[in-house]
Amino acid sequence: MIDLQDVEFHYDRGNFRIRVPRFEVERGEVAAVIGPSGSGKTTLLHLVAGIVVPQSGHVRVDGQDVGGMGDAERRAFRIARMGLVFQEFELLEYLSVLDNALLPYRITPALQLDRQVVERARAIAGDVGIGDKLGRPVRRLSHGEKQRVAICRALVPDPAILLADEPTGNLDPTTKERVIDLLLAHARKHDTTVLTVTHDHGLLDRFDRVVDVAEFHAAAQPESAS
Ligand code: ADP
Ligand code: MG
Repeated sequence: MIDLQDVEFHYDRGNFRIRVPRFEVERGEVAAVIGPSGSGKTTLLHLVAGIVVPQSGHVRVDGQDVGGMGDAERRAFRIARMGLVFQEFELLEYLSVLDNALLPYRITPALQLDRQVVERARAIAGDVGIGDKLGRPVRRLSHGEKQRVAICRALVPDPAILLADEPTGNLDPTTKERVIDLLLAHARKHDTTVLTVTHDHGLLDRFDRVVDVAEFHAAAQPESAS
């Protein structure tokens, strides 16, 4: 489902580099991405999502070469096939919880908004504990509630791939477990492929696999090994 091969990436500025000889995630596999702050966890997710494109190598998602697409095509593919929970949420503050959850349907013709979708959005919002706030503008939510809106939005289109960047980073321990359990139960039920960045090492046993981005670093700086 996700297949990176001989990928080399660096930003235009700074000297951060990541090198991924091979990284595969099977359909339905649920993987956690770990590593210290600044190690490239978000970058790895952005490579898979096609938000950034590698200088060399291949990023294949669901059989398609993401790096070979044009910007518009890549964006449409991302919206239609992937659910993203960004570290900074990327919600529209003035829109309601429900409208934020339905946002992907407003920005791509690839997703059709109908009654069933709205019902699914309501149900998922209920599952993540924000079902009573559907009409409230997001700017009047707590940080943890905003995070749950972002999770809800990612799940509504029933994406083949879910990419979540620290989706439980700002939640209290009880809600954290509930949200991860819900996210993973949803993934298992729908055979969703999941990559989740997490710092919660107590939650790692819930994942099929743990990917430490440090392994993509060591390969990038062989001269620093001593
Ligand atoms: P993590 O998510 O593990 O904390 P990131 O993937 O966000 O790490 O960042 C990895 C490195 O790349 C960091 O050193 C960060 O400062 C740098 N970086 C992130 N985004 C950019 C950017 N747009 N331009 C230049 N450097 C960046
Ligand atoms: Mg990050």
